[in-house]
Amino acid sequence: MAQICLEGAGKDYTQAAEQTLVHAIRSVDLTIERGEFVFITGSSGAGKSTLLQLITYETRPTRGAVYLDGVDVNRLSQRQRQHHRLRFGYVPQLPSLIRKRTIQENLTTVALLGRGRVHMAPEKRVQKALNMVGMGDAANCYPVELSMGQCRRVELARAIINNPDILVLDELTANLDEDTAWDMFLFLSELNHHGVTVIMATHAKKFVNLMRRRVITLVDGAIFGDVQKGRYGDVM
Ligand code: ADP
Ligand code: MG
Repeated sequence: MAQICLEGAGKDYTQAAEQTLVHAIRSVDLTIERGEFVFITGSSGAGKSTLLQLITYETRPTRGAVYLDGVDVNRLSQRQRQHHRLRFGYVPQLPSLIRKRTIQENLTTVALLGRGRVHMAPEKRVQKALNMVGMGDAANCYPVELSMGQCRRVELARAIINNPDILVLDELTANLDEDTAWDMFLFLSELNHHGVTVIMATHAKKFVNLMRRRVITLVDGAIFGDVQKGRYGDVM
């Protein structure tokens, strides 16, 4: 049984300004197995962020269904939905740290949600996650005191804090210098090596080509290419 399965899943948005309906994702069939490393590529507006949000169920599909380990996510009770959420570590495309809270406070809020799933004390997990992404000294900083790359690392730390089964990362390395981006990719490979499924929307052509993992290419809300050990832009 696939870990993640989308069956005819799609999402429409009504854009307020022009009252037009946008098919952000048309009708996608997709399965992702436990432990896969998947790149989602495609030009801006192709539907990458929406697809990631369908996978994590941050957004409900307009049509079709999303399954996690064979269970229709829409059928989950509220309590089960919370458990479902904890199985994912998600870094959205836009900066998402709360500006008026320190890094420690930002991450502790999330760590507290994971009680029961992970046994170490929340404060310890915060420090451990920060150490893992090389941001061990940042706990008492405010987001504004960090560079964009450092904030992305912190967001990655926040995503791994509850020991998720699946990491979903939206342009995590955009605007980062090459060294930092490379560190991130190596770190993600390491997590993947330990069994974490990694699903990553990216434009980082060079890294996609070096890593040779599954590459899914979106065009206009549909899957145009899905290639194992692919390169950026491969469609078959
Ligand atoms: P990508 O991440 O590949 O750039 P998105 O998934 O963000 O693509 O967007 C796909 C399409 O859906 C775009 O046309 C975008 O304008 C539209 N869209 C995305 N999110 C929303 C939203 N919340 N409201 C209205 N339109 C949206
Ligand atoms: Mg996007």
